[in-house]
Amino acid sequence: MRFAEVSLSAIRHNIAALRAHTGAGVIVVVKANAYGHGAAIVAPAVIAAGAEMVAVASIEEAAVLRESGFNAPILCWLHAEHLDYGAVVRLGVQLGMSSVAQLNRLAVAARSAGTVACAQLKLDTGLSRNGAAPDTWETLFAAAASAERAGLVRITGVFSHLANAGDAADRAQAARFDAGVRLLRAHGVAAPLRHLAASAAALSSPHLAYDAVRIGLAAFGLSPEQDGGAAVLGLRPVMTFATEIISLRWAATGAGVSEGFTHTCRRESLLAQLPVGFGDGMPRALSDTGLAVSIGGERAPVVGQIAMDECVVDVTHLAGRALVGSRAVLFGDPAHGEPAVEEWAERLGTINYEIVAGIGPRVRRVSVDRGYPPREAPIHHSRPLREREV
Ligand SMILES: *Cc1c(COP(=O)(O)O)cnc(C)c1O
Repeated sequence: MRFAEVSLSAIRHNIAALRAHTGAGVIVVVKANAYGHGAAIVAPAVIAAGAEMVAVASIEEAAVLRESGFNAPILCWLHAEHLDYGAVVRLGVQLGMSSVAQLNRLAVAARSAGTVACAQLKLDTGLSRNGAAPDTWETLFAAAASAERAGLVRITGVFSHLANAGDAADRAQAARFDAGVRLLRAHGVAAPLRHLAASAAALSSPHLAYDAVRIGLAAFGLSPEQDGGAAVLGLRPVMTFATEIISLRWAATGAGVSEGFTHTCRRESLLAQLPVGFGDGMPRALSDTGLAVSIGGERAPVVGQIAMDECVVDVTHLAGRALVGSRAVLFGDPAHGEPAVEEWAERLGTINYEIVAGIGPRVRRVSVDRGYPPREAPIHHSRPLREREV
């Protein structure tokens, strides 16, 4: 009764739009269960939509994808000290490597498996986080060249991550990245796939696209910035978080609603119960903030405390139209009049990333592939799609 509907047509549209906008290949980041959308649905869908590969943060996520039968290339860059390099080689996952120690362990695992491990190099160009620090590049690149010559490791790419601290900071990082790539190639390592930009730079700075962009949020049709860059490019939100009314009751004037009676009815009110709460990623801090859901295309406010499993909406103005079993959209595509996920994020003082990534495990991820009229098409266009295609 709780659904995160994942629109395959929106995914296809977004990947094509981002490819056209950047003129580069697309690596889709499906970490954190594809930003809450469901990696088992999203990973094959983005490959079918033309992405070159997917990326995750950790090997555990890559293993889950492989177990689901996913066999396209996977990049993975956040490694524990005890990482099982034998499993990495067995799963055929490309590590983003930040140190000589990681490279050496991978080479040892490749030798004992009798295979060549594909991997990429991750450079820190100013984020001060993951990636090889510039003063280690020389030794890392020399080690990469010798592992390639020994036929143990093939370096398929080199990448770095931007701090998104402004255009000048991005350009400075890109210049350091260029210097790193030059040095790497001077060591005789081709590393053909260079990638630097995540969603923010892919949208705002297509000149930083290199051979591929490495995008998470924008593939899901959302904007990493307040400026709505995703909407400007016509990207479509992929997730619709929906549920249904499971009960309806009239409450008298003065009746309290939900725990703590933070809301009391100022008039006789028709209240609908929705089976979604903070156990599903609808934070309690949204209670009594004026947040609304969409029922039959009309807004209805959430009233009283949001509980772990449920919340209450006031549907007095929808009496006779809001019924038990009626669909309620918590957030979805604002182009369809549904609340935007940003309406949650703004109320919570956070970013859209955190909301979608926080959708809980009880919410069933389902793929939907209903045709989506192109934005520019008039809404009353009545000829069926198949006829138009013919
Ligand atoms: C999460 C992540 C991305 C994707 O970021 P978006 O802003 O969602 O596009 C890209 N690269 C790295 C290294 C990341 O950790």
